[in-house]
Amino acid sequence: MNCLVTGAAGFVGSHLCSRLLDGGNKVWGIDDLSKGKLENIEHLLTNPSFFFTVGSLADESLLFEKMQKVDIVYHMAAVVGVKQYAEDPVKTIEVNTCQTLSLLKMAWQLKKKVLFASTSEVYGKSREVPFKEEADQVYGAAGRWCYAVSKSAAEHLCLHYARQGLPLVIVRYFNVYGPKADNSAYGGVVARFIKQLLSNEPLTVHGDGSQSRCFTYIEDIVRGTVEAGSRPEAEGKILNLGSRREISILELAHVILQVSEIKGEIIFLPHSEFYGPNYEDIPRRVPDLSAAEQILGYHPRVSLEDGLQRTINWYRQKIGGSGNG
Ligand code: UDP
Repeated sequence: MNCLVTGAAGFVGSHLCSRLLDGGNKVWGIDDLSKGKLENIEHLLTNPSFFFTVGSLADESLLFEKMQKVDIVYHMAAVVGVKQYAEDPVKTIEVNTCQTLSLLKMAWQLKKKVLFASTSEVYGKSREVPFKEEADQVYGAAGRWCYAVSKSAAEHLCLHYARQGLPLVIVRYFNVYGPKADNSAYGGVVARFIKQLLSNEPLTVHGDGSQSRCFTYIEDIVRGTVEAGSRPEAEGKILNLGSRREISILELAHVILQVSEIKGEIIFLPHSEFYGPNYEDIPRRVPDLSAAEQILGYHPRVSLEDGLQRTINWYRQKIGGSGNG
């Protein structure tokens, strides 16, 4: 197949490109490098089946030119990361919602299949775990939920085009981690804890650390994504992609210390110190995976310990190789 990956130099996008190329596909990639990094795809640039362009999705003629060449668009480009979207709601909605609408209009015109990468964040602070795809989405006061709203609105747009007959599938990712994840203050907790650990800093647990997540190794996410993009049965569906192991953030910190065999320290910080005064955390986030299991044959394979070990090894090598993390 000929595939277009938006956000190709990002964390998930770059792993997806590798997997699609390994599967014998031709891959066109676009990334504006606002968050994605060229080093994530450097090893692919010499692959004769990979065609990468630095550019923005706001450049509609570029998108049109690339979309014409392919059978399917994996739409991964987005503003992600709690701190990032809290700081910049305009960009979050512009990129995640408005640019998705432009892309969908173009896909409709050109009759191209779309896979939209959405997020478990759309369930908001619902307490009805595990989250089924059709579950209520529960948001709180204005000012905190713009990422959830931006992706949820984009899902509405996707569903509209799917109802009109566009072949389209939506996947919702649950706390993805692994090599190449952003380990800056704008990244997820696993990458941040590993960076802190390898820099001999204490692991900063927010609140009392009882909030829980189901961390999903990148390899499982990418396998599920490619299955979702390939199987006609998935068209018109929304599918959770995650893992089954629910773990509190405090326990996660302990597992990371254990797996790394480094004697690190754990400290507790109020959420407000990191996110500002109006932040509201999600107490539990757990996927119901039965739809993905049934439709895609999806089963997460990589255990948390194994995934953490591989991720820690990768960051260790990176730091060893470049002298910085
Ligand atoms: N978290 C933490 N310490 C950090 C970064 C995050 O305790 O240095 C917590 C955060 O408050 C949240 C959980 O880890 O409860 C997961 O945060 P992340 O940003 O990875 O993703 P989220 O699931 O909140 O979208």
